[in-house]
Amino acid sequence: STANPAHRAAASPQAPAPYPILELIKLHKRFGDHVVLEAVDLRIEPGELVCVIGPSGSGKSTMLRLCNQLERACGGQVIFDGQDLTSPLVSIDRVRRQIGMVFQQFNLYPHLRALGNVSLALKRVARLPRREAQAIALDALARVGMREHANAWPSTLSGGQQQRVAIARAIAMSPKIVLFDEPTSALDPTLVGSVLAVMRRLREEGMTMLVVTHEMQFARAVADRVVFMADGKVIEQGPPEQLFTTPRDPRTAAFIKGES
Ligand code: ADP
Ligand code: MG
Repeated sequence: STANPAHRAAASPQAPAPYPILELIKLHKRFGDHVVLEAVDLRIEPGELVCVIGPSGSGKSTMLRLCNQLERACGGQVIFDGQDLTSPLVSIDRVRRQIGMVFQQFNLYPHLRALGNVSLALKRVARLPRREAQAIALDALARVGMREHANAWPSTLSGGQQQRVAIARAIAMSPKIVLFDEPTSALDPTLVGSVLAVMRRLREEGMTMLVVTHEMQFARAVADRVVFMADGKVIEQGPPEQLFTTPRDPRTAAFIKGES
């Protein structure tokens, strides 16, 4: 794997082989008679940035929502950090704190300033004292280049700035993975770059990220691995250069041609 160098450096020769942070095994999902995911297998190693591409309706969002159990699987397993999330014994609220999520629509709380948005879960969920929560939140805002906007109301920020605050909110709880569902699709094209730059920087910090995106250039330049989905299945996956230049499946080739 081409996982982040920080992780490789941290691993001593005696350390156990890296285990996946997240593993989807033979995942099935249907809504009524409509099969949306069919035997999806996917492994995400620590420090990897994996991009998922594919046509609209292929099940990408549903797959992300299954990763943190916003949807329940009809079959198969979701193993997060060694725990099977589909087991009824798992405390899903506890697990969700360790999984950050960033949506296409930033979903900031309009009645809270940027700092309040980022510190809310630290206070309410992690139950940190106010000052400690604020210090961590300010640090998260600094990591996305938004520290000087800590006191801004969401409505006064551009879409790109709002999305960066949403990313700060997702990373403030020190998640083991962050899931992104088309984080730049709702943005004015001139603002996309600033959000992608933040994601690139997070990857350099060693954050594990699963990113559904239509930004082919980003996937090609930054991803460790690209996964192509169609019709509820993983059609193929591989290093970006391989997948974009010599796709094995004609459906992948057709999709890439249409997007470029
Ligand atoms: P993508 O993100 O790749 O565009 P989605 O995961 O959003 O795909 O959707 C995959 C399919 O599942 C679509 O046909 C969509 O209409 C269907 N679907 C998604 N969520 C629901 C739901 N809650 N109820 C019924 N059908 C759904
Ligand atoms: Mg989607």
